[in-house]
Amino acid sequence: MFFDLAGRMVVVAGEGLAADRRAETARSAGADVVRLAVTATVADFRGATAAFIATGTLEGDTALQRIAKAAGVPVNVADRPALCDFILPAIVDRDGVVVAISTGGASPTLASILRGRIEAALPERIGALAKLAKTFRAQANALIPDPARRRGFWRRLVEGPAARLALAGDEAGARRVVLGELDAVRRRLSPVGIAHIVGAGPGDPDLLTLRAAQLLQEADAILHDELVPAAILGRARRDAELVSVGKRKGSAGWAQADIEAELVRRVRAGQTVVRLKAGDPFIFGRGGEELDALRAAGLPVSVVPGITAALGCAASVGIPLTHRRLASAVTFVTGHGAEGREAAWPALAASGHTLAIYMGATEASAVRDRLLDAGTDPTTPVAIVENGTRPDERVSVGRLSDLARLAATHTRSEAGPSLIIVGEVAGLAAAAGQPLLAEVS
Ligand code: SAH
Repeated sequence: MFFDLAGRMVVVAGEGLAADRRAETARSAGADVVRLAVTATVADFRGATAAFIATGTLEGDTALQRIAKAAGVPVNVADRPALCDFILPAIVDRDGVVVAISTGGASPTLASILRGRIEAALPERIGALAKLAKTFRAQANALIPDPARRRGFWRRLVEGPAARLALAGDEAGARRVVLGELDAVRRRLSPVGIAHIVGAGPGDPDLLTLRAAQLLQEADAILHDELVPAAILGRARRDAELVSVGKRKGSAGWAQADIEAELVRRVRAGQTVVRLKAGDPFIFGRGGEELDALRAAGLPVSVVPGITAALGCAASVGIPLTHRRLASAVTFVTGHGAEGREAAWPALAASGHTLAIYMGATEASAVRDRLLDAGTDPTTPVAIVENGTRPDERVSVGRLSDLARLAATHTRSEAGPSLIIVGEVAGLAAAAGQPLLAEVS
C-alpha cells in the first residue's frame, strides 16, 4: 500500500536517531510532522494519519502504542514488529518511481541487499520516463478505448524508441516520438507486434536468462510447450494470455504448422508474443522452423537462447560433460534417431566421448543395442536424469548393458522428461552425493 501523506498530520513520539529518521521520512513524503514527548496523551494523537513511536524503552513504547491505538491511529513502533500496524519497507526512490521492499520483518539485511540489486537494475532516468507517460496519460487513454490496444501503446511508450530517448535524457525527442505514435493511432495505422522465440531452460525458474525473464514480463501472449513447468509460467506478467501448444508423450498437441500460423496471426495483430520452449529453442526444439515462418511472413522476431537439458541436468547432478581425463567431446543426440539414422552411431560410440541423449528413455533398449553394435564397452557408465533441475529430480546410475532396466523406472506414465548421459563421466554423478537408485557393478 502506498499511502499519500501530502498535507496530512503524522505524529512522531520519542527522541533519538530512530525517531528523527522517521520524522524525516514522513516529511520527505510531504506530511506535516508533529513531534510528541513521551508524556503525550490520546488528544495529541487524535487526527493523525499515522504515528511513529520510538522511545527506546519497552515500557515507553508499549504505553504510547496503546494511547495511539485508543486515538484510532495506525502505529509503527521502531524495532518492535509485534507492536506495529504497518512497517517501513526499504525503498528505492528514483524521482517519483518508488520500489518498496519488505521481508515481513524476517530479514532487514536481505531487504537491503535486494534494494541494492534493484538500484542497480533501474535505469537512472526512470523518473523521466514516468513523467513522459504522465504527460500523455489522459490524452492517450481518451484516444484508445480498446484495453489491449491501449496496453500496447503504453508498452511501446515505456519500452520502445520513446523510452530509449527519455532514458538517454532527450525528453523533447521522446515527446516527438509519442506524438507520432498518437498520430498513427488517430489515422488507424495498426502497428505489428513481435515474436520472441525463448528458451525456458530445464525447469528451475532461476535458470531462466535475464532476457527470458524480462520478456515473460512484456508478453501479451505466451505460447508454451507442455514441458515448461508452472513455476516458470508463474513468472509471466499477470494478465499475459497463456496458451499450451505442447505435445505430451502420447497425446496429440498442436500441429507444428498450426503453431507457426498462430504466431504469425498474433504478431500481425500487434501482439508481443513469447514462444516459450523447454531448454534451448534450437536444440531439438523446432525453433528454427518457427523462425523461418515468421521471417517468411516478414514479421519481427528475436531468438533468446536457454540452458538446454543436457547442460542443466549435468550441472544439477555433478556430471562434467567434458573432463580432462575422461571425455574430450560431447554430443547432443536424440534417442528417436536410434531407429533410423544408424550411420551416426559408430562415430558416437568411441570411448572418451560423452553422449547426452534426449528423448531416449522410452527407446532405451534400442539406444543400448545401437551403441553395443557400434562397439561401445557394455560397462560404460550411464546416468538417467529425470526432471533435471526441478524439485522432483531423480537420477539413476548404472552401466550401459543395464540401460533398459534403469530406464524402466523413468518411463512410468507419470514420469517427467528424462535425459540419458552415456560415458565415463556419467559415473561421477555418484560423487555428487546423488542417491543411487540402481547401481550395477
Ligand atoms: N529444447 C529442449 C529439448 C526438447 S526435446 C532443450 O534444449 O532441452 C525434449 C527432451 O528434452 C525430453 O525428452 C528430455 O530428454 C529432455 N529434457 C527437457 N527438459 C528436461 C529435464 N528437466 N530433465 C531431463 N530431461 C529433460
